[in-house]
Amino acid sequence: MLFDTGPESTFDNIVTALRKIGTSANDIKHVFLSHIHFDHAGAAWRFAALGATIYVHPRGAPHLIDPAKLITSASRIFGDDMQRLWGQIAPVPEERVRILEDKDVIQVATFEIRAIATPGHASHHHVYHWDDSLFGGDIAGVRLGDGPPIPPFVPPELHIESWRESIAKIRELNPTNLYLPHFGLVKGSVTAHLDALDERVTRWSEWFHEKISAGVREPDLVPAFAKVEHDDLTGNGATEELAQDYETADPSHMAVPAAIRYWRKYHPEELVES
Ligand SMILES: [Zn+2]
Repeated sequence: MLFDTGPESTFDNIVTALRKIGTSANDIKHVFLSHIHFDHAGAAWRFAALGATIYVHPRGAPHLIDPAKLITSASRIFGDDMQRLWGQIAPVPEERVRILEDKDVIQVATFEIRAIATPGHASHHHVYHWDDSLFGGDIAGVRLGDGPPIPPFVPPELHIESWRESIAKIRELNPTNLYLPHFGLVKGSVTAHLDALDERVTRWSEWFHEKISAGVREPDLVPAFAKVEHDDLTGNGATEELAQDYETADPSHMAVPAAIRYWRKYHPEELVES
């Protein structure tokens, strides 16, 4: 089984990595998707073509089967970079898609894989829990090298209260091993990771609240937030080079439209925009 596939553009990297552990893409029978953003699910159709079952949240399934809307909305953000970033986009045949509701369990060999609905980054997001391990998807943060965990704020479904409730759900499960799609097994305390992530979700969101209320517009928010994030990273263990890697993995500019949309949609009464 595989948790998230990455984009289709890096399918060959997965094949190479599978070969290193003595297996092949043909052997993957179960693909558990945290959510359907292309950097997580873009290669799902390749595994489906080899016979794998693709597990996904009910709200994600229609977009796997017909990615047209997803392509339109992603094209607005990524423009001419679509092909380079994501590779080939194709539908997953409906008969290969299996919907998982919150708390559904799939038995694979001796493993009981439980899906847990965890909105906040996306409304259709699951984490997966088995034994004392958890695959955290994007809700559990992005963490590179010795840097701190950061929350990937992206449009259009960012929801701060849900994000914090989802972190609380993960905390309750108290996993020993937390696996991040960006990237790998969390070293050190999972509790400390979640605390630092939760604090950053709140602080960054509040920063946007203040700036938007003060009438700062999107073009000015982009460089201002890039600096906030950069200084937060380098002030918490990241070198300049690592801060750049974070920017590549999770571009700070995406947080700006995400936060503006969140504050205007869910808390318009709190915004006194000039
Ligand atoms: Zn995502």
